[in-house]
Amino acid sequence: MNNISVALDGPSGAGKSTLAKKTAGHFNFIYVDTGALYRCIGLFALRNKVASTDRAGVIKLLPQIKLDMEYDDAGIQRMYLGGEDVTDAIRMPEISTYASDVSAMPEVREFLLKMQRDMAEKYDVIMDGRDIGTVVLPNAGLKIFITADADARANRRYLELTAKGIATTFEEVRAAMLQRDKNDSERETAPLKAADDAIMLDTTKLSFDESFNEICKLISGRFDI
Ligand code: C5P
Repeated sequence: MNNISVALDGPSGAGKSTLAKKTAGHFNFIYVDTGALYRCIGLFALRNKVASTDRAGVIKLLPQIKLDMEYDDAGIQRMYLGGEDVTDAIRMPEISTYASDVSAMPEVREFLLKMQRDMAEKYDVIMDGRDIGTVVLPNAGLKIFITADADARANRRYLELTAKGIATTFEEVRAAMLQRDKNDSERETAPLKAADDAIMLDTTKLSFDESFNEICKLISGRFDI
């Protein structure tokens, strides 16, 4: 693999996606949001009235799923399910829980693995997720594990959702986030965990710009760019 690969893992709300997006623009990398793939599977299950915890039911759906990932002119990743643009639909809060549940199923992870690796084969990428450094791209040139304390993460997610006009409360967001962290960390297959060779970055006390600068420094230092 000659392309540059940066693996960015960590729990939800740690700032991965906004940081990855800006970093990708800065270095001219493709930003791959792998959570969006799991969200699409979750949305498909929801639409087909299959419970997100019904493993056999979800497995049965997989062959029917036609998933495409494309990038628009602004470099924004757009997700298509059976040809329909679901980029916005997968951001609904109930899809987060669906995504987290289906992502615990090894069959679902296997189903999505090639798509993720193909991106890194073709492009210079910064890829965010939970298992990028440990499973998807174990040979990534740089692995960063981003954390922040639970209140800071919940607050960021809460502001993000309310800015989009989604009615919710801080407590609701915090509880759902902690449940999701627990699911993601305790599952058997590809749990949320820092790779042994990942660099830890705690953003609790850092502003967005400070976090961004840290990441840029790590990338420039590692790849000489
Ligand atoms: O990153 P995002 O919050 O959109 O991801 C939705 C869910 O998908 C996560 O809670 C996690 O359960 C799952 N996920 C995963 N592995 C990834 C990316 C996301 O299990 N690489």
